[in-house]
Amino acid sequence: MRERKPDTIETDVLIVGGGPAGLSAAIHLADLAEAHNRRTAGGRERGDPLPLRVLLIEKGSAVGSHTLSGAVIRPGVFRELLPGVPEEEIPFDSPVTGEDMFFLTRKAGWTIPFHPPYMGNRGCFVASLGRIAAWLAGIAEAKGVEIQAGFSGAELILEGDRVAGVRTGASGVDREGTPQPNYQPGSEIRAKITVLAEGARGHLTKKLVRTFGLDSGQNPQMYSLGVKELWSIPEGSFPAGRVMHSLGYPLDMEQFGGGFVYGFSNHRVAVGLVVGLDYRDPTFDPHSALQIYKKHPLIDGILAGGRLVRYGTKTIPEGGLFSLPRLYHNGVMLVGDAAGFLAMPQIKGVHLGMASGMMAARSAFEALKANDFSAGQLSRYEKIFRGSAAYRELYRVRNFRQGFNRNLFLGGLRFGEQWLTRGRGLSRTGRLPAVEDAARLRDLADLRGRTFQERFKADLVFDKKRTFDKETDLFFSGVHHDEHQPAHCKVIDPQALERATERYGAPSQYFCPAAVYELAVDAATGKQEIRIHDANCLHCKTCDIKAPFGELEWTPPYGGDGPEYEAEM
Ligand code: SF4
Repeated sequence: MRERKPDTIETDVLIVGGGPAGLSAAIHLADLAEAHNRRTAGGRERGDPLPLRVLLIEKGSAVGSHTLSGAVIRPGVFRELLPGVPEEEIPFDSPVTGEDMFFLTRKAGWTIPFHPPYMGNRGCFVASLGRIAAWLAGIAEAKGVEIQAGFSGAELILEGDRVAGVRTGASGVDREGTPQPNYQPGSEIRAKITVLAEGARGHLTKKLVRTFGLDSGQNPQMYSLGVKELWSIPEGSFPAGRVMHSLGYPLDMEQFGGGFVYGFSNHRVAVGLVVGLDYRDPTFDPHSALQIYKKHPLIDGILAGGRLVRYGTKTIPEGGLFSLPRLYHNGVMLVGDAAGFLAMPQIKGVHLGMASGMMAARSAFEALKANDFSAGQLSRYEKIFRGSAAYRELYRVRNFRQGFNRNLFLGGLRFGEQWLTRGRGLSRTGRLPAVEDAARLRDLADLRGRTFQERFKADLVFDKKRTFDKETDLFFSGVHHDEHQPAHCKVIDPQALERATERYGAPSQYFCPAAVYELAVDAATGKQEIRIHDANCLHCKTCDIKAPFGELEWTPPYGGDGPEYEAEM
């Protein structure tokens, strides 16, 4: 078979990822260029018109199909991005009409009579982020942005110290990597500026940050995993626009996180659990914890008589300001979850992601006018950010998440200190350190008799009506992968995987919310081994983050593969 050469596509700006941050970058850049061209054509500004090609690639089969969020959104940034669009035209689901916070024990729940600082949702909207992304994509296309869904960025094109674009993945390759008759090479998309908007723990972003040391001197990023189900419930069970958060059960006092129920229109609710991946028990299973959460009388009462509609999961970058890498390098910028734009403690990233996309667009526009794509020129992005409301919002809670790395009680005290000292806290340096989530597990031997699996053994029985095993929930994620392709969830260090199995009891079998990793016994050798079912993968990247020795790596499968969250999640 003759080897086919990859196509080469040239563009001015390439945006990798069709979430709110990438789409905001595309829309704002198109608007800036259009305004500039109008001014220069009318003689109101000196200079030439700026012909501009903006190409956005998205790995999901459509924009929005891989987009999942906590779904309570602040609307202000939409006014900045789309000043002529009335709020009624934004496809939010419902305005927040009421909010409660509970502390749960196994059988009971108490209302917390006040909202902790920064955690209110007044003026926000409950929304499906997938629907918002699809709507933004339509606006971007109307402004001339080219959007290609079903294309994953497989690797960066590096030329010396510069990012020159991205190679998309090939298709038609068997499990061993041998090209088949239907082989299609990927494309080389060469760009003056590449904007990485690929979401939390993006694999291109990870490579970029490590290659050029962009996180030097910063705290490591910390993540949470969110697992969520969408339910259809009887009319009147939970009103649209009501937002309920909870702390406590089934998480223990060493775990950061909590549960939520959000009311949508048409008698639907999103019920979920967000858990810090700095947890210490290697048998902790976030998906099982969500099932246990649903059995709590408070949640059970809301879901009674309902049915499961959708299941999804995603990781959330929570480290805050001190975990942001440098946001630019030669020919490239980072936006949204890929960079780590998320405001704790309210766990809101959509408005900051969109704002970061707009700031990167401004910087890209100036670079295009100057025909200079060097790191020096693109550093304008960081300067714009440091003078922005987004920076001030992150600055005042800059130590929040690190303060909760021991237990909730100490975290609460530290939060109080930070609130009184405008985020500084009482530490000597004004900056609390962080530890990588992967390094936090305790040896299984130290926890015998007290593990999550042992404590909740009686609860880990799923009735397939209210509670579900992972395989059943997966059916409701719409996940699909071509099974004739190289493994995309990879063991990159088999010996380390063995060590993780011996010392921690194979934590991947628990932390993966999609049952990709199975601990099995080899019939021939009698040895325990991990079997990988990567067709189940929901692309949350938890394995890439939490594998204790870095032995697992997530890479993108064929473009278009993965979950299909549709416009509901
Ligand atoms: Fe998430 Fe990794 Fe499991 Fe895929 S294999 S669902 S990325 S933990």
